[in-house]
Amino acid sequence: METNYDADWQEYRRLRRLCIIVFGGFVVVALIVAAVSNYYFQTFTPVLVLTILWMPAYLVLGYRFVYWRCPRCNRPFSSSFGYHKGIFCRACIHCGLRKFSNG
Ligand SMILES: [Zn+2]
Repeated sequence: METNYDADWQEYRRLRRLCIIVFGGFVVVALIVAAVSNYYFQTFTPVLVLTILWMPAYLVLGYRFVYWRCPRCNRPFSSSFGYHKGIFCRACIHCGLRKFSNG
């Protein structure tokens, strides 16, 4: 019997893309805010405020991505206790299901 994990992998891709956009977007926005605030107000305080506001979003997204559950064994795909492969994980740490495979 052929299993179908397409919907699960779609969710994985969506989370991965969101993490990259949120992290990359923060770097770009922080650099722009730093340049503008330093030029006009000679302070970097707005960047600190931006960082404090942005951090929870990235932490929540990162947590959801790092602890995303494998569709086959339902355990965290790229994480074990104290060990995280994150975006570079090519197969489930627990059951060996290859990334984007249907079993
Ligand atoms: Zn697994």
